[in-house]
Amino acid sequence: MTDEFDDTLPDADMDAFEAASLRLSVDLGALADNWRGMNTRSGKARASAVVKADAYGLGIEDCGSTLYHAGARDFFVATAAEGVTLRPHAPEARIFVLSGIWPGQERQIFNNDLVPVIASEEQLSFWMGTLADRGEHPFALHVDTGFNRLGLPLDDALYLADDPTRPASFDPVLVLSHLACADTPSSPMNRVQLESFRRVSEAFEGIESSLSASAGIFLGPDYHFDLTRPGITLYGGEAVNEMANPMRPVAKAEARIIQIREAGEGQTVSYGGTFLLKRASRLAIAAVGYADGYHRSLSGSGIPLREMGYGGAYGFINGYEVPVAGRVTMDLTIFDVTDVPANAIRAGDYIELFGPNVPVDEAARAAGTIGYEMLTGLGLRYERQYLIDDE
Ligand SMILES: *Cc1c(COP(=O)(O)O)cnc(C)c1O
Repeated sequence: MTDEFDDTLPDADMDAFEAASLRLSVDLGALADNWRGMNTRSGKARASAVVKADAYGLGIEDCGSTLYHAGARDFFVATAAEGVTLRPHAPEARIFVLSGIWPGQERQIFNNDLVPVIASEEQLSFWMGTLADRGEHPFALHVDTGFNRLGLPLDDALYLADDPTRPASFDPVLVLSHLACADTPSSPMNRVQLESFRRVSEAFEGIESSLSASAGIFLGPDYHFDLTRPGITLYGGEAVNEMANPMRPVAKAEARIIQIREAGEGQTVSYGGTFLLKRASRLAIAAVGYADGYHRSLSGSGIPLREMGYGGAYGFINGYEVPVAGRVTMDLTIFDVTDVPANAIRAGDYIELFGPNVPVDEAARAAGTIGYEMLTGLGLRYERQYLIDDE
């Protein structure tokens, strides 16, 4: 025995992706296309790219660099650390940090040329002090127009715009706000926030302004201002309720079938024995579970959502939709593959969890959640592959 691994074993030169039990492919061509599409839909405004939360779980480095090459020159991240990771992949871009700046983050912000988005009076006074010590540095100002999340209160922002006593270093490069109900075009909240933001944008005349994330872009030109901030649509997700999704799917998640078993009528499946087989069945045991963000709430039975009558999730294999049977477990999920012809499925094959054949938002709905949460919760076990367009 040596303490080296034997690299003459047959799997040594097999591609890690080909061998993986659980894998995720990210179509960078579709990502770039989706960004160009949202940039076009933004009309006279430019589209930025929102790449927070590791580019919605798909990888900030590869996605960031693809978006940069597609033409994005403004990026939004949630934290300074995300901005540091992105910087080498978007060298000439402005990178806005939505959580602003906090004591101890000065080096990250200044050394990586990140633009903090200042969202409160406390942050503003800290930032003005930092500028007094270190000299000029760009920043943005977040104004709350009704979301009640981040941002200076509207009246404070309007006052600040004309305050003769404010420091000379108060010179934001962008004012922004965020819509609460843009996914519901008929919501009166959209107009109310638009009117408030118009006042902000007028008060800060000459400074660029930004109101809309993905959904807001679909509300039309009034909502575009100078810069839009699409996130979910870049990654192929739905932004607007009850509208056909015009975006190309970007992510495909697949789990390997590691066993196929026959089970008799009257038997039960998985924890709790909550799924009763009404016929002799064939079951595929796939290497994915709630530890991989395949939420327990996707279960076919045995959870509160199902008792309320909602259907469970389904996977896709060789042209067949295959429902989840019983509870999703930590590392394994059981799919009912009885209706798939025996010669069209075998152990070692992959079941698509979401992707071109199972929209991520449809899977999310089965879990009682949204595509955003499915994507950002994928966990660490996926082997990732990035597909590059030939164009
Ligand atoms: C997350 C976020 C976005 C992007 O939203 P999507 O709905 O994913 O397009 C834009 N702006 C702000 C302030 C955000 O927090």
